[in-house]
Amino acid sequence: MSRFWNPIVSELHPYIPGEQPHFVDILKLNTNELPYGPSPAALDAMKDSCDDTLRLYPDPTARDLRRVIASTYGTTEERVFVGNGSDEVLAHAFRALVSPAAPMLFADVSYGFYPVYCGLFGQPYQEIPLNDRFEIDIEDYTVPCGGIAIANPNANTGHALSLDSLSRLATLQPDRTIIVDEAYVDFGAQSAIRLTEEHDNILVVQTLSKSRALAGLRVGYAVGHPDLIEGLVRVKDSFNSYPLSRIAQAGAAAAIADSSWLTQKTRQVMATRGRFVQSLAGLGFDILPSCANFVLIHHPAHQADKLLTGLRERHIIVRQLSAPRIRDWLRITIGTDQEMDRLIEALASMGLTPR
Ligand code: PMP
Repeated sequence: MSRFWNPIVSELHPYIPGEQPHFVDILKLNTNELPYGPSPAALDAMKDSCDDTLRLYPDPTARDLRRVIASTYGTTEERVFVGNGSDEVLAHAFRALVSPAAPMLFADVSYGFYPVYCGLFGQPYQEIPLNDRFEIDIEDYTVPCGGIAIANPNANTGHALSLDSLSRLATLQPDRTIIVDEAYVDFGAQSAIRLTEEHDNILVVQTLSKSRALAGLRVGYAVGHPDLIEGLVRVKDSFNSYPLSRIAQAGAAAAIADSSWLTQKTRQVMATRGRFVQSLAGLGFDILPSCANFVLIHHPAHQADKLLTGLRERHIIVRQLSAPRIRDWLRITIGTDQEMDRLIEALASMGLTPR
């Protein structure tokens, strides 16, 4: 607390990012990055963009990148917005497209940044409990509200809603923005991007941080009706008009254009997930079915914090989340087959034996 702070700053509860450790020989399975490096085409494009043109500001509208995104998803560039990671895109959406006159709705177990943005923007919110299968029930979101954020697949649980459910929600809440955060969609769920053509109130947000293996580049985007996009642009141009560097724009465009790379890597992650889930089940874990590049697990006989500490002693970092309902669960990112085998061996060395 400092006397120089704006009063709102002392009231904030900032998001706590997953640890980015600096020591070697660490198996890092805590922030849902891909275990593989990004598309070689993206790396080449970034290297090529490192020249004297860096003395110039980048295109503030990132038009070439927005065109590539539009053509990949069969839409048009005026329906695409880009930002510095999907965190920034989400922040602008919470600022631009939600009514402060009523609480915003999101799940009690979801992406931890949603309540943080609400705190920053003075936006009231209400957390809706997941049902007892840890799933979002759309019928719980039909009450009057200022807007809705749904991570699909949901953050931390991996459960995905059908497009029919999202479409029904958009119809039941015609005057409110439904922000569909698809950070994990490429690992087994269906994108709602095509719904944005029929529903002017759905904004789909995606990121290059997970399935495109570019968390270090910081690029995210949104697709939706041009009126929603214009709202986002107005906020962006009142905050930082050059959120994406020349290098980021070039790398992101090449990464998105490389769809065969995406298919190959996401298939590999899904195959590893299937294999890993089998091994965990053999050790007696409860595992939520996941359409994401992580699984949320719980062991009836071993507390999550003890497992977390034991794994850490063996140089393996996984994530324990703060939402009260999942305090005794661990979220584990899917790495390579070899990495998951190392984790299973570590659990075995901690006394967890096959059933
Ligand atoms: N949405 C969800 C559900 C996430 O888990 C994350 C990553 N922590 C993000 C958005 C933000 O990702 P980024 O800013 O790297 O695009």
